[in-house]
Order: sequence, then C-alpha cells, then structure tokens
Amino acid sequence: MMQSVNTSSHNGITSFWLDREGLCTGTLIFGVGMRDEPPTFAGITHLVEHMLLRIAQPATVVHGGTVTTDSLQFYALGRPEDVAGFLNAIAAAVSTFEAVTDEVIALEKSVLEAEDAHKFSTVSAGLLTYRYGPSGVGAAQFGAPATAGLTKAEATEWARRWLTAANAALTFTGPLPSALDIRLPAGKPVSHHQDPPLITAPTLIRSRKQGVALSLLVPSHDAGLLCEALRYELLTRLRHAAGIIYSVENFTTAIDTDQSQLDLILDPVRQNSMPALREGVNTLRGIVDAGFSEDAVQSARHAVTAELGWDDYVPQDYLDQLAIDSLLGRRSRDRQELLDRATAISSAELTKTLRTSIGSLIVAFDKSAKLSKAEAGSLGLAIDRYEIWQRNNTPKNHQSAAEGDAEHPTWRHKSTHTTLALTPTRLMTHTSGKTKTIFLADVAVVGDRSCGCISLMDQRGRSCDLNMDEWKAGKKLRKKLLEAFPPEIIRSFPEE
Ligand SMILES: [Zn+2]
Repeated sequence: MMQSVNTSSHNGITSFWLDREGLCTGTLIFGVGMRDEPPTFAGITHLVEHMLLRIAQPATVVHGGTVTTDSLQFYALGRPEDVAGFLNAIAAAVSTFEAVTDEVIALEKSVLEAEDAHKFSTVSAGLLTYRYGPSGVGAAQFGAPATAGLTKAEATEWARRWLTAANAALTFTGPLPSALDIRLPAGKPVSHHQDPPLITAPTLIRSRKQGVALSLLVPSHDAGLLCEALRYELLTRLRHAAGIIYSVENFTTAIDTDQSQLDLILDPVRQNSMPALREGVNTLRGIVDAGFSEDAVQSARHAVTAELGWDDYVPQDYLDQLAIDSLLGRRSRDRQELLDRATAISSAELTKTLRTSIGSLIVAFDKSAKLSKAEAGSLGLAIDRYEIWQRNNTPKNHQSAAEGDAEHPTWRHKSTHTTLALTPTRLMTHTSGKTKTIFLADVAVVGDRSCGCISLMDQRGRSCDLNMDEWKAGKKLRKKLLEAFPPEIIRSFPEE
C-alpha cells in the first residue's frame, strides 16, 4: 500500500502531513518567491527570510530557510514539539516584523553579502531571464544588487502583503504536533503575474556564462519524462560517443499550470564549446526527426520510479510541491498518476511533445567562443548578442523624432576617443564612426552604486556598468544620468 498524504487546516493554513511516528520535518511555506519580485526589489524575499530567522533566534533545533522561484520556506527537523516551537516562533516573528531596527537590517544585509558576494553586487542573466526578461520567473536568475538599498518600510510592506495565513501552507512528515500553534494575519488575496516570453523563435544567446545550455518550453504534465529522456540522449551522443561533456544538469521551472521551462546545462571545456553546441542542437533535431530511442524512454520511466515509486514513504520534495501547487493555484498530480503516466508513455508520444516544443528552443552559448552568423543559421538559430548597447539606432516603439542634429550634452572618455551623449530619449556612445544606443525607456533599473558607478539594466535583463572615473566631467555625467530616469527605478547598489 502506498503511503498517502493527509490534508487538513491548521488555524486557516492548509496542511499536508503523513502518518508516521517519531522525528519529523515540518515546513512553513509562503506563496511568494523570486518570481514575484519586481526588478527594482530583487532580493527582497531573501532579506525578509533572513530577518525572520534572526528574530526567531535563539533556535537550537536543526532549522533553516530558503527562497525559491515560487516560494519562501522555513523548516526544522527533530522532535515534533521542537519543530513546532520553531515554526511557531517564525510565525510570531512575522507579527513583530515592524519592530526591527535599521541597524539590524544593515547587519543582515552584510550577512547576505557574505552568503553570495557576487549575487549581492552584480546583475547577471540566466535562461529564464533570456526568455522572460527580469520580471516573473525571469527574476529568479539575475542577481540581487537592489538588496543593498532596500528600506525597512519596503521589507515590512513586502512581509505584510505576502506572509499571511491565506498565502501559507504547512507540510509535516508526521502528524501535526499538538504544540503547533501558528498564527498569521489573515491578509488580502495575492496574485502572481507572468508576462509572455520575449523570445518566440529558436534563438542563440551570446551568454556571459561559460559552456552551453539548452532551454525549451514544454507541457508541464510530461516535463519530467521529457527532461530525463533528453538527458539520456544527450549523454549518449555528447559524453559516451563524443567525449566532450561530463554531465547534463537539468532544471524544470513551472511557468504556469500548463507550461514549464526545461533547461539542460552542458559542461564542455572551453575548446569543446563549439562541438558541444553543434552536437547538442543536432541531437535535439535528430530526435524530432527520428524519435526518442526506446532506451531513452525507459531511462525516463526509471527516473520517475526512483523518485516517486517508494511504497512506504512520500518523498519530502513531493509533499512540499503539493503545498506550493496549492498556493499558486496549480493542479497537482497524484503520485500514482505520475507513475502510471511514466509506465504508459511511448517514444512516439514523447517525440511528438518535443516536436511541438522545439520552436521555443533557446541556446545559451559562451560569448567569448567564436561563432559566425552562418554557423548559427545552419543550426536553425538566430543570433541574439544580448547586449544592452544596441547597434541599431532606430527607435522601435519610441518616439521617432530626429534628435541627431540637436545639441546634446556630450562627454569624452579620458583615455580613448569614445564619446557619450545623452538625449531626451537615449544614451549614445560613438567610437570610430560607430554608434551604439541605449533607449532610456527600455531601462528597468538604474543602480546608483556606492562607488560612484552607474549600473543600467533593461527590460530584457541586459546590463552594463558605467564607471564615471573613466569620463571627463564624470560627476556632471553621473548627475545628468540620474536625472534622466524616473526616480522609482533608481536604486542604491553596492560597489562592484
Ligand atoms: Zn540566505
């Protein structure tokens, strides 16, 4: 008999729990994650998580907190009454959040910097950002330099809006302990917004990251099986036959109830980047034409069985996923249903799913590696340089009035012949006859760095840093730049 999941309500909080005695893991989950953060507030959920863990001290039971794309989670493991005590303390901390001092927030920001110094200071983009820009699920990957400038009022408002009984769920690997008494404000209903993808044709992105990554939008109900079957085929061709990669790391991100983004990260050494790109894309296209091998389908079945097919216990991840799905209004699939689907799926069905998804292919490729337009074209991919500085100086949907003739403030680079000009609608650089442009209306976040640099990020998550020390009259440039943008998108960033 498969162990089943019990559902009940604890003080208005939906709870998922198992019948098992002894030590347990208990998790308090809120339906707010990185996908809910606007680009100007990136990192705010993580800051709130740290603040609550701080307020809940001292806590001696084994415990922790985590922020994912979809959720904020606090967990503890040990004796049921100790686990309950910790989660009660976190809920109490939510109610006293407003009492924290600015000094304590500053202290916790420096803890966050120590946790991941790169993320704390740098804007970067990943596969979700390439597809969706820096909002919605795309927010999960572009760093969190806005953390440094977050105010107490902003963090308090964030907690007040999202950390409510209606937006919380509990999971326990045993019965709910009698000592559990989580009290949260009722709150108002929340909603999650997701814009459609910005890229809609097979595209190769020149990435700042090393290696090769493949990304597809696939139907959620077969995402797990498709992911495993693709991993198997990629390993067969690129590892076993060609010897150019070691592993295929995979990530699946639910976009909504129906769609998931499936990412496969390959790890060639630098000189094998190009062969890995070619072989990787050709493997996918080859499967579209000739179908998945029977072995690939079999390996996908085995992976699902190994993950979910345990008779005597429900995996913790599955339990937590039930809670997250319920918070985000997604339909969860029963463990048995997933196992049955794995048994029933055929190569033809899985191939058909890939065929209908292949148009969403995004390939991220090391920008330092050599690649011609023709080479990308032969793989059926358009090249996207993914640079905030646009070579095309024609405004897209912006005002089209000619600004070229008017006099605009211009700055000279201290050591090169480059100039920088600021017009009412754009920032332009001129270097040896070439002009590159950033349209001001495309900028989503302006980082006012403590070192004096200005960081710009646009609505696709592309970014650059301007060092004022490199320009003559840099102080004036800095002032003019900050005046050119609406104040609500200007945030304090740490030094780079
Ligand atoms: Zn942390």
